[in-house]
Parts: sequence; C-alpha cells; structure tokens
Amino acid sequence: MKLKGKVAVVTGGSRDIGKAISVKLAKEGAKIVVNYFSSETGAHKTVEEIKSLGGEAIAVKADVSNQEDVENLKTKAVEAFGNKIDILVNNAGGLFERRTLQEFDASFYNLVMDVNFKSVVFTMQAFESIMSNGASIVNISSQAARDGGGGGSALYASSKGAVSTFTKAMAKELGPKGIRVNALCPGMIATKFHDDFTKDQVRINVANATPLRREGSAKEVADLVAYLASDEASFLTGNNVDINGGLAFS
Ligand code: NAP
Repeated sequence: MKLKGKVAVVTGGSRDIGKAISVKLAKEGAKIVVNYFSSETGAHKTVEEIKSLGGEAIAVKADVSNQEDVENLKTKAVEAFGNKIDILVNNAGGLFERRTLQEFDASFYNLVMDVNFKSVVFTMQAFESIMSNGASIVNISSQAARDGGGGGSALYASSKGAVSTFTKAMAKELGPKGIRVNALCPGMIATKFHDDFTKDQVRINVANATPLRREGSAKEVADLVAYLASDEASFLTGNNVDINGGLAFS
C-alpha cells in the first residue's frame, strides 16, 4: 500500500479513466474525494466500490471549469478528510465535438478550453494552500498535446498542450514548496471518450499502427498515476509521461 494515510482528490473520478484512478489510489491506501459533474450514479458506485474494498471515499459534485464549484469541492474535501491534501489528479476533460476551424465559435472555444485547461489552472490554485509537503499533482494531458490530435480535435489538442506546458511551469514554481507536478500523455485508451467521438475503423487503424497492437486500458493509466502520486516517484517533477503503447515517442 504505497499511498497509505494519504488523501487524494480525483476530478472526473466517477467513470472511465477517472474511476480507475480513484479505485487504484484507494487500493493503495489513499482516502479519495471522487469529483463528478453529470455522472452522479457512477460517482456513488465508485464510492461504494472503494468502501467495499475497505477504503474511505466521498463523492462531490462540481463543475471544475467553475471556480465557485472548485472552492466548494475544496471545502467538502477538507470537511471529510482534514486540511491536508497529498494527491490532486486533474483528470476531468472532454472533446465535446469534432469541429474544424470554420466551425468554431466563441462558446465552443470557451467550453473546450475551460473544461480542459481553466479547470487545471484554478483547481491547482484553489488546492495549493492545503497541499502537503511531499504532495503530488498529476494532470491528465494527451498524446494530442504532442501531435495536434485527430481530425476535428484542434481545440482539444491545444487545450491539452496548455496543460502540458502549465505542468512544466508549475513544477518549477511549486517544487521549492515540496509539491511535485507531472502530466500523463495517454494515447488511445478504450473509454466512452472514443466510443462517442472516434469511428470504429479509426480505432482499429490506430491499434494496428501501435507497436503493442492494441488500445490502452483505463487501469494501465491508473497504475501510472499511482506511481507518480507515490513517494517512489519522489525525484520526478515537470514530466509529460507518454503512455501510448509505443505509438509515438517524444
Ligand atoms: P470520458 O470517458 O469522456 O470522461 C470524462 C470525465 O471528465 C468524466 O468523468 C466527466 O465527469 C469529467 N468531466 C467532464 N467535464 C467535467 C466538468 N466540467 N467538471 C467535472 N468533471 C467533468 O474521458 P476519459 O477517456 O475517461 O478521459 C479522462 C481524461 O483523460 C480526460 O482529461 C481526457 O481528455 C484524457 N485522455 C483520454 C484519452 C483516451 O483515449 N480516452 C487519451 C488522452 C487523454 P461526468 O461524467 O461526471 O460529467
């Protein structure tokens, strides 16, 4: 149990990659604040699963692109588990729709940038004052940040590019305060994200072009998050770690 005694906040922690992260961190001994936005049932199921494993968790609704909601998430986390957070996983994100340049408007721009990037900035800002010495922040960026993403995902890819760059800047700023900041750049991971937005044939083509010849799983991402969150990764900060089956190297 490499996270015993630690408290973790996982944004978008109710399903898919976020759920796998919540459950994995709990299995490693952390108490979990499972944030959700629309998936209330999924959040409560995640909490029940963690409790059935002997862990502790609460579910908190918050739109992480909204600063008031983020403050409320912090308040609820402190009420449940005290004034010290050891792990913050900024997982919430979304593509929303595939659109080309001429199809963008200001509201779509704001939606994509706010959910993927503003959320990371202001969640880190809100939680910084209660992050413990030795704390770890893990931001879920994307392979799209490296390569511009698939068709119609330019704004999503750019928002993730911002997450990756912000991660490096914050590693420098928060390192002297004893807080590590890393990001993951997952390739194609089998979740609702691609069920919703990627054609089956494209998924098959990407898997065939991947040296490991398959999509990744949410569990594989969660295992890497648990490592980066743990003291085993105590000299790692400012990294954007690729997890893509060898599809691309940086
Ligand atoms: P997903 O199945 O689409 O899940 C998205 C998650 O984000 C859900 O838990 C959702 O919560 C949450 N979320 C969305 N908007 C939110 C908001 N305003 N406030 C709070 N939570 C919000 O995606 P996934 O595949 O699990 O992806 C998780 C993360 O990995 C995302 O950041 C995604 O960009 C990134 N990623 C995924 C892949 C992939 O291949 N799947 C690859 C690279 C990066 P609710 O359901 O409660 O609304």
